[in-house]
Amino acid sequence: METAVHHFSSLLQLPAMETRLLSGCDLHVHLAGSFYAEDLLAIGAPIFREVDWTDRDFLDGYNNSLDTELDPIKLFAAALADPENGFARLKTAYVFGPDDSGDFDRFMWKYRLFSHLWGYGWEQGWETAVAMIRQAVEHHKRQGLDFVEYRAGFWGEATELRQKMQICAEALASECDEQFTAHYIVPLPRNDPLPTYLAVRQLLHEQPQLSRILVGLDFSSQEEGFPPRLFGPLFQRLHQDNEANPAQQLTAVYHVGESFFDKSLESAVRWCHEAALLGAKRLGHCIALGLDPAVAVSRRPQAHEAELVSERLDQIAYDLRFVRQLRQAGVAVDVTALKAEQRSLASLALDDWVERPYTPQRLQDIRQRQTFVLNQLTQAGIVIECCPTSNLRIGGVPDAEHHPIHRLLASRVNLCICTDDPGTFDITLASEIEWVLRHTNFTPDSLAQRLGDPRRFRL
Ligand SMILES: [Zn+2]
Repeated sequence: METAVHHFSSLLQLPAMETRLLSGCDLHVHLAGSFYAEDLLAIGAPIFREVDWTDRDFLDGYNNSLDTELDPIKLFAAALADPENGFARLKTAYVFGPDDSGDFDRFMWKYRLFSHLWGYGWEQGWETAVAMIRQAVEHHKRQGLDFVEYRAGFWGEATELRQKMQICAEALASECDEQFTAHYIVPLPRNDPLPTYLAVRQLLHEQPQLSRILVGLDFSSQEEGFPPRLFGPLFQRLHQDNEANPAQQLTAVYHVGESFFDKSLESAVRWCHEAALLGAKRLGHCIALGLDPAVAVSRRPQAHEAELVSERLDQIAYDLRFVRQLRQAGVAVDVTALKAEQRSLASLALDDWVERPYTPQRLQDIRQRQTFVLNQLTQAGIVIECCPTSNLRIGGVPDAEHHPIHRLLASRVNLCICTDDPGTFDITLASEIEWVLRHTNFTPDSLAQRLGDPRRFRL
């Protein structure tokens, strides 16, 4: 797998046009994760002394989680006074690097070091908000990106929420020119998606010109505990509203198969399929479809052995629905046993837990299920957004060799490489493409051929 030197140097020799084919278009980027340490400093410089860093227990939470004694005011002052050492300390405090890997809690606190500032900035009025957005977008432009779809969720009551989304959409629109296009995707909170959805529709109704920029909805943040079936009614409404408003089409993307320790691997694979069946056009991550099941279960003691009765029942219903296709794909489906299990589970509460340890045969079946779902996604034209570094640092992928991307690349599924939170991880889309070349047998040419132009997947 390690063919680093050769491929890295050949990327540098690539004609500019071919490099930009892949490294000029990022389809999975969180706006609040797009601020690099230097952007944090630029945004923080005029306001860091006014910000209440103890608000919402930020300081205690950060220091407890990272076992440190962060003093943000001193940190910013030192970074401004000493661009070398002081800035390096700010960067260490903020960037979620390879040494932090695997700990989602640490990630969230480092992410909040910026989002605390971001929240304060938004309270200062639209000029500050627009200046912050411009800071991130201009950074992307300097990196040579020409097409970015930004995700940014906001807070507040309906009117406030709508205003913030409007400011964000207008700020992104004002950054667009012949060289650069930005789209805006609004994430819906999985625990209560409807109010944000309605706010987006209302905004587009009042400001129809924004429908050129505000083109999508995402389901993101906490995944565990929110099965795709919960969002069936919302997707139905989305499809109806799209039919009724052809000029204001919204397309759904969906984070799935990224964090799935709460369930069996069969269910994790099924969720990716179900998100596509709901009508999502692109799926974020789908680690569950590419991580080898033997590796997945080795990540924690008894990993993926327990799941809710409701999940097991959903899985049985799915297996009975797709029995013919699953068998064709080489998965053993015992209908009689499944129906007997269904009957015996009926005596349990839906929020009870069932435990099912893994056997080598079951792990093999799960590999077949992954192939089955990848084929289903391929046939349906669904796109997987793969974020290599993000998966390693916060997605529970143990190392480059076992990265899901190998399996995804080997399939025929539509695939694009993205950064997720480039600023927080201190990565660029170009460095992610280089990572892929370094850790796979693809050459710049063959990778460009396998992936094609990611811009064809834009919303
Ligand atoms: Zn993401």
